[in-house]
Amino acid sequence: MRLSRYFLPVLKENPAEAQIVSHRLMLRAGMIKQQQAGIYSWLPMGFKVLKRIEQIVHEEQIRAGHIPLLMPTLQPADLWRESGRYDDYGEEMLRIRDRHGRDMLYGPTNEEMITDIFRAHVESYKQLPLTLYHVQWKFRDEVRPRFGVMRGREFYMKDGYTFDLTREDALHAYNRHLVSYLRTYERMGLQAIPMRADGGPIGGDYTHEFLVLAETGESEVFYDSEVTDLTFGDREIDYDDRAQCQGVLEEFTSRYARTDETHDEALFNAIPEERRRVARGIEVGQIFYFGTKYSEAMGATVNTPDGKKVPVEMGSHGIGVSRLVGALIEANHDDKGIIWPEGVTPFHCGIVNLKQGDAACDSACEALYAALSAKGLEPLYDDREERAGAKFATMDLIGLPWRITVGPRGLANNLVELTSRRTGESEEMSAEAAVARIV
Ligand code: ATP
Ligand code: MG
Ligand code: MG
Ligand code: MG
Repeated sequence: MRLSRYFLPVLKENPAEAQIVSHRLMLRAGMIKQQQAGIYSWLPMGFKVLKRIEQIVHEEQIRAGHIPLLMPTLQPADLWRESGRYDDYGEEMLRIRDRHGRDMLYGPTNEEMITDIFRAHVESYKQLPLTLYHVQWKFRDEVRPRFGVMRGREFYMKDGYTFDLTREDALHAYNRHLVSYLRTYERMGLQAIPMRADGGPIGGDYTHEFLVLAETGESEVFYDSEVTDLTFGDREIDYDDRAQCQGVLEEFTSRYARTDETHDEALFNAIPEERRRVARGIEVGQIFYFGTKYSEAMGATVNTPDGKKVPVEMGSHGIGVSRLVGALIEANHDDKGIIWPEGVTPFHCGIVNLKQGDAACDSACEALYAALSAKGLEPLYDDREERAGAKFATMDLIGLPWRITVGPRGLANNLVELTSRRTGESEEMSAEAAVARIV
């Protein structure tokens, strides 16, 4: 992409309404525009990052054997009356009536609808296990939408639903999700720690939230510092191997890590003092086993091998796709702007032409652009007639991991400059060497 032809409406001034750094930087880098409280347009660069995150989520879900589908945003109230949640959900639910006077709602989540799909099409245990998921817009009329996309009213979420015959099978599905989530966040360059969370009205221990540590996080968290040393890495995983998935769950959840809702002071104080941490975190996902709550209420049953009919065992598992954009920036920035991890960057590399209109500089930039593109990478070429300082400031603000700077002085010796956004270190090298370094 050539910056002169792109749509990147960067702001020079700090927007007064933004209280936290990710919100400020997303506005300044021209990623989003607020349309109403908690409702945003995703401008081209923000949209690109959102889609890269979504793509990683899809790849890891599919790797785990989960099946994508797409449910609508608008749902009939009657389904929610069956589960009893139409009245229970309260003010967070946006209720709508169509021209025929039928009650509808903009889905805040999809347990009811997926259960309806299941009961319409599945009868036998032979069709289990089954995990269906989608990535779709949700609406929750949050009392206090704030921090940009972190607490929006309209937001993008991956929500997956598991269907199993037995509780053991459902717990394996839970473990599979935990493993796939660890991989998902790590691929984005993010540490998200599974923490024991509150089962809410459903109760039970079978829920974990994934938290990214950040001062601006809305949750208070308590943990053993050893949890931050754990990484999943690139180990092989067989998602059908129950013992292996259970092993990963135990490895990642046996040390103390809880949100304030489930915090237990006595257990916490049993950790050696130097390892006790009290901090804040951003909830970027949650996994939940809830058994037959919806299947019983809505009559989603399966025939068992011995000819009985039982309500199907279920769980639901969410990732805050749009919130992750903000969380990634909270975890990756400096005073100049964003620093994208390579896994989610909107463009792989910036090209800065220090002397636009100079034949040698222009053709060297074009050649770089072609070579990077031929490698399957997406460069963003700043081909505007602008001062070098302004070009550098824009590149630092939007945070591409690499910048290649092309100027007449270097070119005289066949050199360009490669700069890492994260370390700030620059190195002179040939254009070919620079291209080879970018992944
Ligand atoms: P929170 O505690 O932040 O209100 P939640 O527990 O109500 O979130 P879940 O129902 O667990 O949310 O939804 C799954 C994921 O969707 C959350 O882990 C979070 O990452 C994301 N999410 C929830 N509410 C919002 C929101 N208002 N804006 C953006 N993302 C959200
Ligand atoms: Mg909430
Ligand atoms: Mg929560
Ligand atoms: Mg939650």
